[in-house]
Order: sequence, then structure tokens, then C-alpha cells
Amino acid sequence: MAHLVRYIPCGREAAAESIGYIGKAFNQKFQEIWQKKYINKSKQQSFTAYCLIISGKVVPLHRFTHTEPASQDVGAAIGRKHYILKCVADALFLTINISFCMDIYKILKYYRRIDSPRLKLLGIMGLHLLHRRYLYVALDPSLACNLRCRLCYFSNQEKVKEMGGRFSEEDITAIQKSVFHRCLKLQIGDGAEPTTYPGLLELVKKAREKNIPTISISTNGNLLTQEKLRQLVENGLNELILSTHGMSRQVYEYMMRNARFDHFTQLLQDISEIRKEHPGLKVRVNFTMCEDNIDDLKLLPQVFSSMKPDVIQLRPVQDIGSSIYKNYSIDPIFDKYDETVGVVIRFCQENNITCLFPQKGNLEVIQHDNDRQEHFNSSIDMLPYFHLSPHEAWKTEFNPYEENFEQYARRTHRVRKMLKMLLGHSAGDEEGVTRAMNYRVG
Ligand code: SF4
Repeated sequence: MAHLVRYIPCGREAAAESIGYIGKAFNQKFQEIWQKKYINKSKQQSFTAYCLIISGKVVPLHRFTHTEPASQDVGAAIGRKHYILKCVADALFLTINISFCMDIYKILKYYRRIDSPRLKLLGIMGLHLLHRRYLYVALDPSLACNLRCRLCYFSNQEKVKEMGGRFSEEDITAIQKSVFHRCLKLQIGDGAEPTTYPGLLELVKKAREKNIPTISISTNGNLLTQEKLRQLVENGLNELILSTHGMSRQVYEYMMRNARFDHFTQLLQDISEIRKEHPGLKVRVNFTMCEDNIDDLKLLPQVFSSMKPDVIQLRPVQDIGSSIYKNYSIDPIFDKYDETVGVVIRFCQENNITCLFPQKGNLEVIQHDNDRQEHFNSSIDMLPYFHLSPHEAWKTEFNPYEENFEQYARRTHRVRKMLKMLLGHSAGDEEGVTRAMNYRVG
């Protein structure tokens, strides 16, 4: 079998990426071969190379030399002709990874490495037109939460009164039939707590029936027991995202009102037990940083000393509207970055944990996101995102009883919007901004 490999040397270290099934030993062998062929010749140069591996033999395809690797203008650094070739190779690489690998974090890594926003857009468009899976479906089955976190609109009593709504069993079946076949990742719980939904187990089962590669719940974990989690995993759940706003009892229970730190730490032990039976279960931790909890990041390595997550995401507090918390200053995060965020980055590096974190410079971008190019990137990054929640008028936006995703895409002129973006025009109502792609994946 042939394997397409992208090779990116970093200083004296070197990294070879594959489409997911080349083991470490093979990777090492590949590096030795490649090192003899290229590294010694190109000493101070930085490059990206592509090759095929056929029956253990390395067949070099192309090598792009970066004379100025740190340059933002990669096109200028490696020459226009090579830049176009690199773009095509990157697109091919991303498509192969999406088609065969299906690991959402690997895909995110490759996606981040594509320099050209238009190329990213072309890739997404290709997957859309070829009827491949590319959607990141964020689904809130019910608009309720057991907690009243200070950073969240659930802290506001008036807002809570306006919330409500829950998908019926029939709604979930209709959504399953109309959207799940295009879904690369199903994220259950996006703006509310999914464990308050009685039909959660059934929902996970329905996602598994449609072979969605990543089925995930995003939860505060306070209603999860070992047995409930086991049932979810046995029914198809393969990722658990734990949200937390503190690493010490005092801060955790202050920020996440109604939550119990003891339950959180017990859950970490329960997860360890379940992972012994189901090692495929991925665990991601989301930590929202603000002035009142930034110091707690120093305790994160201790809290996760025995249950090591696969991914840790750090994100600065953002104004999501209506919460009782009003301190959105990023200055404390900026000032304490090295002694707090830095600790987590090092912990992740030492334990082979994927770390999604805003770089110091990006903190500014996240707070003052007015730059046109950022907006262009963000609009593209939003394209795979498809949100469904049972608010009062949800069927007026997308009615799964009457249309499937393809019909919806035609009705909302999705391809036309993509073409407009490609040609440099605004994408109209695609102006929602995600900051997800502003994060460094380390
Ligand atoms: S657990 Fe999540 S949804 Fe619930 S109040 Fe806290 S932040 Fe909001």
C-alpha cells in the first residue's frame, strides 16, 4: 500500500506526518532515509516535502524550500510557482486526511497549516460538492443547564426564564435522517448542558447508526456518573469534552455556581476506569480563562496527574451576552501568560497532549477582531459549522421534516456564497465569527 507523507523538519528535530497509520518505528526509519537525502544538503534551510512510501521505499515527490520560514508571505518566501504547487499538495493532503483519517484534531492541524484562505475554501467547497462529510454539527438537544456559571448567560435569571425548549424524539429522528450523513463531528451540547436531556443515550445511538466518526458531548460533568458515562460510551460516544472554570475547590465552586468540585475530581477517576475498558474514548478539557481563575492554571498539572486528557483547550473569557460576569479584560491573562498558560503548554508537551491555546499576540486579536483578513478566515472556518437548537422558531431556519442538508444548502445558496467569498466578496449572513481557528494547536 502507498502512503502519502508530508515531512516538516523543525530545527534539528524532524516530524513526518502521515495519513494516520504509520507507526513511530516506521516514522523513525523514514526520517533516517530522508535525513540522508535532504537534511544534510539543506542545513539552514527550512522546507516542506511530500513523498510516497511504497512497500517501505521512500519516493520523493516534491520539496518546497522556505528561504524565510517565519515569513507571513509564504508565497514570496518559496516562489510563486512552488507556492501554487504547495497549495495543491496541501489541498490533496487535507482531502486524503478528511477522507481516511477522520481524526478531527489531526484534520484541524492540517487545516491550520494551509496558508491560503482561498485554498481552504476550495477544499471545503470540494467536499460539499462531492457529497463528502465535512459538517461540524453542534446540537443542543435541550436548552437547560443544572449550573449557573458566572461566565455564562445561565447566571442571569431573566435570561433563564427566556430559555427552554427541548427536541422531541421525532425531531431527533428527523435531524438524523436529514443531516447526520454529512456530519464529520457531532458535538452534543454547544450552548447548554446535554446531560439534562433525558434522550441523550438515544441521540448518541442514532449518531452511531449513521457512522459519524466523532460523537462528542460537551458537559460540565456534574450530572454524570460512572455508569451513565459507561452507557454513553457503549452506545457510541467517543469524545467527552469537560468544561471547567477552576482547578481548585474554591475557584471552581465560585465560578461554576451549583457545581461540586468533589464530583468533578471523582468523575476524573471514573473516566480513568472507563478508559481501561474503552481506550478509544478521547477526553478534552475546556478551560475558560479570566482574571478570577487565571492563577488556577498552575494547579492544572496536579488535577490531571492521573487522568491525562487528549486535548486541553484554553480560551479567554468572551462576552457571550447577559452573564452576570462583566470583567472581560485580557490584561491579567496577558500579564501572567508565561506562569499560567505557559505551565499548561509545558504540561501538554511533556505528556503528549494536544494543546489548543491562544498565542500571546492572538489575545489581542480575539478581543479586537476587526481585521478584514481575520474576518475572511473566520467566515471560511464557520462554513462547516451547523448549529441546531430547539429554540422557539428553529424550524424556520432549517426544517428537517421537510428538507435534508442538500436541499437546505440549495435553498440558502451555499455554493454561490462560497464562490462570492472565493472572489473576495462578503458572504452575507455567513458573518458569524468563530475564534476557533485563531488557536495554536501544539
Ligand atoms: S455548565 Fe456551561 S451551559 Fe451550564 S452554566 Fe456553566 S457554562 Fe453555562
